Order: sequence, then C-alpha cells, then structure tokens
Amino acid sequence: MTKSLNSLFTDGSCQKALAQIDAKQAEMVETVIAWSGVNSGSGNLTGLTGMEVLVLKAFKPLGAEVVFHQLPPFERVDENGTIIKQKSGRTIRLFKRPDANRRVLLTGHTDTVFAPEHSFQTTTWLDDNTLNGPGVADMKGGILVMLHALLAFEATPLAQSVGWEVILSPDEETGSVGSAPILADRAKSADIGLTYEPALADGTLVGERKGSGNYTLIVRGKAAHAGREFHAGRNAVVKMSALVGELAALTGGRPELTVNPAVVQGGVAPNVVPDIATCRFNVRLKEAEHAQWFEAELQRIIGVANEEEGYEVSLHGGINRPPKVLSDANIKLMDAIRACGVELGLDINYVATGGCCEGNNLAAAGLPNVDTLGVRGGMIHSADEFVLVDSFSERAKLSALILMAFAAGHLDSVIEAKA
Ligand SMILES: [Zn+2]
Repeated sequence: MTKSLNSLFTDGSCQKALAQIDAKQAEMVETVIAWSGVNSGSGNLTGLTGMEVLVLKAFKPLGAEVVFHQLPPFERVDENGTIIKQKSGRTIRLFKRPDANRRVLLTGHTDTVFAPEHSFQTTTWLDDNTLNGPGVADMKGGILVMLHALLAFEATPLAQSVGWEVILSPDEETGSVGSAPILADRAKSADIGLTYEPALADGTLVGERKGSGNYTLIVRGKAAHAGREFHAGRNAVVKMSALVGELAALTGGRPELTVNPAVVQGGVAPNVVPDIATCRFNVRLKEAEHAQWFEAELQRIIGVANEEEGYEVSLHGGINRPPKVLSDANIKLMDAIRACGVELGLDINYVATGGCCEGNNLAAAGLPNVDTLGVRGGMIHSADEFVLVDSFSERAKLSALILMAFAAGHLDSVIEAKA
C-alpha cells in the first residue's frame, strides 16, 4: 500500500496540493476563532443559521451544489411529563459529481453542546499551540479540516474521478434524531465515509463504538394533602425511586451494557403527595441484538409497574445510535488510512470507545467509515475544550491524501470487501 501510494506523487500535483494546505494553516486558525465566537448550541436556531451562512461562504470556492433539508421538530419530555416539540434546524448537503464511479460521503455537524446562556462563549490561547474555545475541536475545527482537504483535492486532476458529498447536520449533539434518515439514505449512495469528530490529543483515532439510546420514564400518581389525605394519594416519586433501582440493575444484563438514570424530577412541595415524576436515562450497548433484550426488559418493568392501582407508567425515547461494529470493509478502510498517515509521517492507531457519533449511523447503513478525522484536541463538551492548532494542516493533509488515494483506486479493496 505504502509503496503504491508513491505513484500519487510522480506528477507533482499531489505535493502541490498538500503544500497548498500548509499555506492555509494561519487562515484555518483565524477562521476557527471566528466560528467559535458564533454560539451554535443545538437549540439555538439563530446561531445555527449564523453558522450556516459562514460555512456556505467558506465552502463556496468548491463550486458544489447545495441542498437544504428542514428537520422535523425535536421531541423532549418536560418535568410534567408533557412532550414538547421544539423547532429544529436544517441539514446542509453539498455535492459534486454525484454520478462518478467512486463516491465518498463526508459528514460533520454545526451544532455544539453549549447553549447561548452558557458561560463558555469565546476562545483563549492556553499556549502557542493550544486554543481553548467552544466547538474549536467538536467540531468547527473538524469542518475546516474537511473543507481544506476538499479544496486541495479539487486542485488535483484526480478529483475528476470522484463524486463527493458533504452533510453538515444541526442536531448531532442531541443524538442526530432528525438527521438520522438523511445520513442513512446518503450512506447508501457512497463507497466510504469520512467524519470529522476530533481525534484524541495524541492523534489516535476511534474504531469501534458502542450504541446509545436516550429515554424518559414518566410516572403519574395521584396528588393529595400529605397530612389530611395521605392515604388517598399515590406517590409518584416513591414509585419512581423503586423504578430507578430497577433500571440501574439492568447494567451488566448483557456484556458491557450500561444504564445511567441521570435526571430525576418530581413533586412540588413537602406537604403534597407528588403526582408526577420523570427520569431521563441513557443506555450504552456493544451489540445491536442487545437492544431487543433491553427494550423487552423495559416493557416488562413498565408492565409490572402499571399493575399497581392508581399509577400510570409510560416511556418516551429509544435507541438512536446502533453500535458501530467493524466490518471487514471498515477494517480495510482503517488500514488504508493508516497507510496514508505513514506517507505523512503520522503513526495512526485506533481505540474503541463508549461514545457515539454519526459514524454509528453510517456504519448501521452499511457504509465503512472512519469518524475521527478532525483536529487533534480534547476535553470536548466542557469549558476546557481545546484544539492543538498544528493539527489543522496535519489533519487536512491526511484527509486530502485519503481522497487522492481513493481517487487513484488505492482503496478499491474497501469497496470490494463491502460488496
Ligand atoms: Zn461532535
């Protein structure tokens, strides 16, 4: 593989394209600082629109076709057990040469976990190479890596043989519930997938990922005065407390399956028997078939709970990301990317994680993908989020080389393994 990649460099256009990325290093850092200053928490539609304008302007030189998909409302359960529908943003699709023989899907997200009222809104230099700021790694920085890889790739003649498509979602951080059907659909039209979540700070990429689901359990009882009519009441908080224990006890019911009851709410005052309680919880699972066992256990628990007179127990939510299990084709793609790294002097390794991303969705749709091709960084989802800025040009060159290798047929074994 390494030996054959040398053929990419014989006419000089590939070296020139990679040098073009080096020349853009300062521009990438300037841009991520500007983008980080635009709050785009998943629920902030104004901020997401602001990011959309900035991203479309930056991607304009690629000359791609652009299509928008308005996502359906996002459902969440409030503390009264009422389902609230929140307006969603829209997914941006940019594509070029959709009829080419070799096709690659590149995905990313414009949203962050930081709401407008969060204190973390600006960038700070921690040292010459470390920039702290919302979304600098996850994944405004990653979008810039993707963009500059594509710009360099388009400057080479090889680009003419590849169709590429970019999907930028506004809802990844809330589980990609709205964009999941789009990701699944577009994954079916591509041979390989590249996603721009951050690599670990030392450059390690992620291989296997667990699956994940978010749920809300709702218990309705009966309100009563805690002194005058205590026995007429049905205490939803007490009932929920027992159910929380049952949910937690499902941890380990299948190998590496974990259940995390996380947000419990209920009751109004100490002298009122509470008639409502809610519990938001998350499940992580290693094997897709464990989902059926888990769902059946939930139904069993709810069924028994509903047998007690005066209570009504219901459930909202589900598994939104299946586990990312590594197919043969996926392993071949990981190996090919490792070989591209060797060309650039990068030692690329992979680790498994319990975390999820769009890579789960793409893998579930049968698309071999590597999903941590963004910047090197860390402490994501916290006010300590950082990017190591020397990784901008480093990772953009890696992706550009992957695209060139793909165009030149060096990844055809991935496509063959997939078929
Ligand atoms: Zn992310």
